[in-house]
Formats: sequence, C-alpha cells, structure tokens
Amino acid sequence: MDCIFCKIANGEIPTDFVYQDEDVAVFRDVDPQAPTHLLVIPKRHIASSADVTDPSVWSVLVGCAVEVARKLGLEKDGYRMVINTGTQGGQTVPHLHLHLLSGRNLGWPPG
Ligand code: AMP
Repeated sequence: MDCIFCKIANGEIPTDFVYQDEDVAVFRDVDPQAPTHLLVIPKRHIASSADVTDPSVWSVLVGCAVEVARKLGLEKDGYRMVINTGTQGGQTVPHLHLHLLSGRNLGWPPG
C-alpha cells in the first residue's frame, strides 16, 4: 500500500522516532505548527478515526500521547491533541494520526 505513514512506521522511510513500540510510533511533523509538533500513529494502517472499530486503538494512541507529553514535560505549560478526520476536518494524510502540539499559546476556535 502506498501510504507514507506506513512507510515511516515500517522503516522504509528513515525517521528519528521520539517513541515506538510494536503498536505505535511517534515522530516529528515535517511542517511543525508549534515548537513541539509530534504525530502519534498506529503502526497498523487505519485510514482515519472514522474507520476505528476496536476501541482499544484509542487507549493505545491517546495513552501514548499523554505518556510522551509527560516524558517531555509538556504538561507544565499545556498541550493540545488533535485528530483531523476527512476533508472538512482537514485530514491530508489518510492514515490515522494524532497531532500533539505544545510550546505556544494555541488559538481557539481552530481555523
Ligand atoms: P493532517 O492534515 O491532519 O492529515 O496531518 C498530516 C500531517 O502530516 C501534516 O501536519 C504534515 O505536515 C505531516 N506530514 C506529512 N508528511 C510527513 C512526513 N513525511 N513526515 C512527517 N510529517 C509529515
């Protein structure tokens, strides 16, 4: 399958992982929107949040994001987790990913 995040997850595209285990990978966004901008992905291909059928995917993904945020000390000033879904949701890469953003004041509502 020609999926860029699958290629990152399986090592076809060399990447400096912030964290990885058998289920999940965390790496830096190539176009960061905040001083810290990480992507947390399941290694197994799931196209979007709308395609999640196993609820344990959420505990793995969100649990990993919170743990990485804790290790990096991001909770001191705060952070935001974002999952864009579909066209109007702003999803551009069709492999489920959670954005972990931190290091500046993040506006609300989102654009
Ligand atoms: P989304 O718009 O929610 O689908 O987010 C996709 C994100 O993936 C964007 O923030 C891109 O900057 C990021 N991205 C695309 N290709 C790569 C890559 N090869 N390595 C790291 N981040 C990427």
